[in-house]
Amino acid sequence: MSVFRRIIVFASLLISAFVQADNFKQVAIPAAPATQAPVMIQGPMPIEAEHFAGLLDNVRKEQSGHATFYLGTLNGYPIVVAQTGKGLENTAAATAIGIERYRPRAIINQGTSGGHDPSLKVGDIVIGKRSVNASNFKTPFRAKGEGSAPLEWLPMDLLASSGSAGEGDSAKDAERIRYYLGSPELIAAAHAVKHEYERGKVVEGTIASGNFWNNEVDRIAWLHNQFGTSTEEMETAAAAQVAEAYGVPFVGIRVLSNNLTNGGHYDPTTATDCQAFVQAMLLHYLAGEK
Ligand code: SAH
Repeated sequence: MSVFRRIIVFASLLISAFVQADNFKQVAIPAAPATQAPVMIQGPMPIEAEHFAGLLDNVRKEQSGHATFYLGTLNGYPIVVAQTGKGLENTAAATAIGIERYRPRAIINQGTSGGHDPSLKVGDIVIGKRSVNASNFKTPFRAKGEGSAPLEWLPMDLLASSGSAGEGDSAKDAERIRYYLGSPELIAAAHAVKHEYERGKVVEGTIASGNFWNNEVDRIAWLHNQFGTSTEEMETAAAAQVAEAYGVPFVGIRVLSNNLTNGGHYDPTTATDCQAFVQAMLLHYLAGEK
C-alpha cells in the first residue's frame, strides 16, 4: 500500500470511529472532587467540646481510648471535634490518633485556663503565640536533708537530643526551655475576629501546660517571670509537640476561667465563650483558604 493510500484508510477509520461514537448514548462521569481535609478542634472536658460538637451537621461519633471524635461539617466544611480528656497524656494520644485517622489540615486546641498575668481577667482570651510544657524540669542536686527548692529548678528539653537529659555529654544541651510557636495563619485568623468577642479582651501570649494546678502565687509569678507565661492549663503544649512532629499547623486558644493572681474566681461558663470565639476564627480561616 502506498503511503498516500495508508493515510486515506487511516483517516476514514478515524472518521467512522467518530461517527460510531456519535451513535451511542453517552454517560459522562466527572472526576471525583478532591476531598477536603478537616480542621480538628480539640477540647479536654465535655464543657470544652460539646458546644462545638453541637454546631456540626451530619455528625458521626467515634471513640478511641479516652478520646471522643465528632465528625461533621460546619457551613459545609469538614470538621473533627476531639474531646481529648484532661492532661498531657490524653491530649498527646488524641492528637496522634486524630492526625493518623483524619489527616487534619490544621489543629486548634482550646479551652479554659488559669491566669498567670495579673492584667488578664476571667473571660479574657489568650491566643497562643507560643506554648510551653511547664512540667519539664530538672532539679539541681541537693543532698539528703537539704530539702527541695522548686524555684531553682532548671527547664528541661526532652527533645534536645536522643541522649540522656540527666547525665553525660548530652545532659547540658537539655537544660533549655522549648517553646512551640503557633501557626501565623491561625493566629492571624484569631486577630481578624477579636473585635467580635464581647466577654473580655483577646491578646497574644504564652500558654503553659503541665499536669499541675498551681495555687502557689509565688510559683505562678516565677513561671510568669522566668518563661513569660500568660496562663496555665494541662493540654496545649502536648498537642503542639505532636502536631509539630507531624507537620500540622497548630494554635492554642485559651480563655481564662480563673486567675489566682488577681482574685478571679473559676467560672466554667467561659468554656462556651471560648468555643464561640474559635467558631468565628475558624470560619474566617476557612473562608480565607478558598
Ligand atoms: N475545676 C475543674 C477542674 C478541671 S481540671 C472541675 O472541677 O471540673 C483541669 C482542667 O481545667 C484541665 O483541662 C486544664 O486545662 C483546665 N484548667 C483551667 N484552669 C486551670 C488552672 N488554673 N490550672 C491548671 N489547669 C487549668
